[in-house]
Amino acid sequence: MMPTVIQPPAMLGMLGGGQLGRFFVIAAHEMGYKVTVLDPDKHSPAGMIADVHLCAAYDDAAALNTMAETCQAISTEFENVPAETLATLAQSTVVHPSADAVAIAQHRIKEKTFFKEAGLPVGPFVPVLAESDLPENGEMYPAVLKVARFGYDGKGQARVANPEEAKAAFHAFKQEVCVLEKMLPLDLEVSVVLARDVHGNIAAFPTAENSHLNGILDISIAPARCTEVIKANAQELAKKLATQLNYVGVLGVEFFVVGNQLLVNEIAPRPHNSGHYTIDACVTNQFEQQVRVITGQALGSPRLHSKAVMVNILGDSWLYSGQQSEPAWDKAFAHGDLKMHLYGKQEPRKGRKMGHFTVIGEDAQAVLNSARVARSELH
Ligand code: ADP
Ligand code: MG
Repeated sequence: MMPTVIQPPAMLGMLGGGQLGRFFVIAAHEMGYKVTVLDPDKHSPAGMIADVHLCAAYDDAAALNTMAETCQAISTEFENVPAETLATLAQSTVVHPSADAVAIAQHRIKEKTFFKEAGLPVGPFVPVLAESDLPENGEMYPAVLKVARFGYDGKGQARVANPEEAKAAFHAFKQEVCVLEKMLPLDLEVSVVLARDVHGNIAAFPTAENSHLNGILDISIAPARCTEVIKANAQELAKKLATQLNYVGVLGVEFFVVGNQLLVNEIAPRPHNSGHYTIDACVTNQFEQQVRVITGQALGSPRLHSKAVMVNILGDSWLYSGQQSEPAWDKAFAHGDLKMHLYGKQEPRKGRKMGHFTVIGEDAQAVLNSARVARSELH
């Protein structure tokens, strides 16, 4: 069947109402589409600005039925949406990415096994289904034990120095299925966000450099400050991965850089936090690409028109010095080269992503300095 192009003002569907869904709604609205968001939270960032907010669980039969009947194409912003939900919707409407691709991305063992089988470089890992799977072999330690499902922002992870600590951590995770990864001496972390359409065309955004704080993305710098060879290699590996996965949609691929070696860390079957810089620094942003892919429109140019530094704003910025106070927004807005994005979340909790800003400009060092000053002035 020839895929037909879905033209505005068609209704699109978004599974998940977080900030990624909110940016999807904004992009879709700008392009003339309408959006129905499914999210059980009454105050979800995307639900609040959607044309229709279905406030229900991700497996609610009535809500899924409404989506299937009223939405011309559906995507997700949330990898933990049940793969069956995508499969059910796909029986009656256009859904990207596929349930199969999401099922791989939402399970660390399936994900790493897929990387290996696809011939992509990965660090040493061991699937842990039972305590007896934990290696006694000292070569695997120090290591990180990660629960196979539902981990994010460093949650469901424990750093372990030896088999005893690994056992204790496995029990602390209630013996859930895990993966044990050898701790790698990271020189850098980089990521590539790309869009792949139904015809197999790929538009990859420039390789970004990421630094994390307490397991949460803190800053992304685009383009990454590593060798051209590493940047190009990351682009190639990300494209190979998307093609082998027969992926359709927007995909985030995280890499570890160890010396001059690149290893695939994990994938996200959706736009990625490290791709937020594309909103202000690229011709087409990652959310517009998501709209373009699911509607069957041609991919937009991923060209970077400015150097960019993106800084996440966590709930911690409200809770500084133990007192709850609003960050000094006026100081941030005083930077004319800074683009502010707040997600409309009501409650600033520690580690919760409340917003981000991106500083753009011609000179990479000046942009980075300006971003650092702006972040230090927030509280
Ligand atoms: P999440 O789903 O929480 O993003 P990740 O697997 O990407 O999970 O881990 C979060 C961060 O923890 C990584 O970006 C990296 O900084 C660090 N990390 C994870 N695994 C390893 C490892 N094997 N070696 C060194 N650092 C790691
Ligand atoms: Mg990660």
